[in-house]
This record gives sequence, C-alpha cells and structure tokens, in this order.
Amino acid sequence: MTARIIDGKALAAVVREEVAEGVAALVAGGVPAPELAVILIGEDPASRVYVSNKVRQTEAVGMRSRRYLLGSDATERSLLELIEELNRDLAVNGILVQFPLPPHMDIARVVTAIRPDKDVDGFNPLNVGRIAAGMEGALVPCTPLGVMRLIKSVHQDIAGLGALVVGASNVVGRPMARLLLQELCTVSIAHIRTTDLERRCREADILVVATGVPGLIRGRFVKPGATVIDVGITRVASASGVDKLVGDVAFDEALEVAGAITPVPGGVGPMTIACLLANTLSAARMEAARRKAVEAETAV
Ligand code: NAD
Repeated sequence: MTARIIDGKALAAVVREEVAEGVAALVAGGVPAPELAVILIGEDPASRVYVSNKVRQTEAVGMRSRRYLLGSDATERSLLELIEELNRDLAVNGILVQFPLPPHMDIARVVTAIRPDKDVDGFNPLNVGRIAAGMEGALVPCTPLGVMRLIKSVHQDIAGLGALVVGASNVVGRPMARLLLQELCTVSIAHIRTTDLERRCREADILVVATGVPGLIRGRFVKPGATVIDVGITRVASASGVDKLVGDVAFDEALEVAGAITPVPGGVGPMTIACLLANTLSAARMEAARRKAVEAETAV
C-alpha cells in the first residue's frame, strides 16, 4: 500500500483564499483591513526569513502589517512596553512575537502580556485555558490549527479514532492533543520519557509527531492505513552540500504503510503561516462584532 500524500501547500493556498475573501467581506462592511504586528528580537537569520514570509503573506491576502525589529540586547521591559502599546492600539488586531526569544527574556511573561483577543499565536494562558476547557472564542496555536485542517482533509469525522501525539511542547504537542480530544478522539501523548514508543505508535489511527528528532518514527511504528502528520522540521546537511529539511518520520518507510501522510517540506509548514492569517482574521472579526455590540448598546 502506498499512502496518499497530503498536500499542505495546496491546502494552505485554499486557507489563504478563504482569508482573502473574509478580509474583503470585512472591508466591504466598512471595517478597516485587519492588521498584524510582528515583533522580532535579535538577528537570527531563520527568524528573519519567517518574519518576512509572515509579513509578505499577510499583505498578499489584503491585510496590513507592521514589523518591529528589536536588537538582541533589547530589555524585556522594552518588549513588554511595546506589547502594551500595541495592546492599546485600536488599529492592531494581531500581535505576534517571533520565537525563539533571547535567553534573558521570560517566555511566560511575554505571552501573558499580549492581550488574549490579539494573541494570534494562541499562547496566552487565557487562550490555552479556553482550549483546554473546550470553550468557544479561543485563538488556537497556528501549527495545531493547521494540523487539524490537514487531518480533516483526510477524515470527515475523527470521533472515536485513536490519536497519539508524540511531543508535549506548549507550542505543538499539548494544544494538538487538546484539539484532538475536542473532536472526541481517544488521545495519548508521548514524550521523551515514554516507554515502548513503537507499540504505542502502532495503535494510533492518527499519529502526529512533533519532536525535532529526524527519522524517530520508522515505518514499522505506523499502523497500516493510519494518518501520519509530521510536524518536525530539522535542517540537515545533505551529500550535495546543500542543507535540506527533514521531518521526524522516516518518510519513505512510512509511505508504504500509512493511509495518508504529510511530506516535509510541503506538509505542516505552509499551513502554519496560513493559519496565522486565519487567526488574524478571526481576531478582527471578533473585534468588529464587539464594536458593533457596543454601538448598538450606546444607540439604545
Ligand atoms: P520542543 O523541543 O519544545 O518539544 C519537543 C517534544 O518532543 C518534547 O515534549 C519532548 O519530550 C519530545 N521528544 C523529544 N525527543 C523525543 C523522543 N526521542 N521520543 C519521544 N518524544 C520526544 O519542540 P517543538 O517546538 O514542539 O517542535 C517540535 C518539532 O516541530 C521541531 O522540529 C520544530 O522545528 C517543529 N515545528 C514545526 C512547525 C511547523 O510549522 N511545521 C511549528 C512548530 C514546530
């Protein structure tokens, strides 16, 4: 059996199209185009590329963007002050602080400082809690949100399926598991101290892997017919001397066993930025609805 390859690039294009239509509808209704503010601290070249891609794609769907570049010696206080200014700025719908942060900054303090309704990365504890409690109105972290779209491109209904998430980070693994639970999958989470990973993987109808360990999941780990989503991205030197990106799944082996599988690159990666755009639109829609409700109240 050869698995269906899930085309993340094509699905991301669909999401961007949906966002562009949503933005056009908001603007046609008299609401200003949504605006995303992206903050980058330091000169990490990979982060610079990510930020440029985010800004370019934001503008391509008709939204506005701002970019703030802080030096690697910027203080945490100066970052928190900038976030506070953007929290108060009525023109800004989404605030994103590009990770990784420099070591002298505290991630928890930074994500907590972002107003929950502008938290397009979904890392503010209020959004984390809303997702954990299955409450409406949360902004969901972009990568797990994109993975859910990828899974739903294969399965109409995932209720009752067994899902294993390998990796338990706050950015991917934990929110991923909560979203799968919300869809009534029977969910397990594996991590660095999990024993007998192979057996646990073989029981999963849906296997989502986010560890950053290239080739961790071998073909024999995969349940025949399972849907395999490879979130991992690691840059490795290839024989040709040009760096290449590899995932956490031994793709060629898993391809022979799985029912559907995402490639690396071209799977989860493109969906992550597309979902950032979708979150910025969601934030703008929620803000527009709030303002309308206030206007209606004051008109009475
Ligand atoms: P992280 O380092 O914060 O967490 C890794 C998790 O994997 C931890 O919970 C750890 O316990 C687990 N782990 C590590 N080795 C393991 C092993 N041998 N067996 C089982 N579990 C193991 O990483 P992260 O931020 O969650 O990112 C994971 C990977 O996903 C990285 O390659 C990252 O680049 C990639 N990523 C991709 C996207 C995307 O858009 N495609 C987004 C975020 C992260």
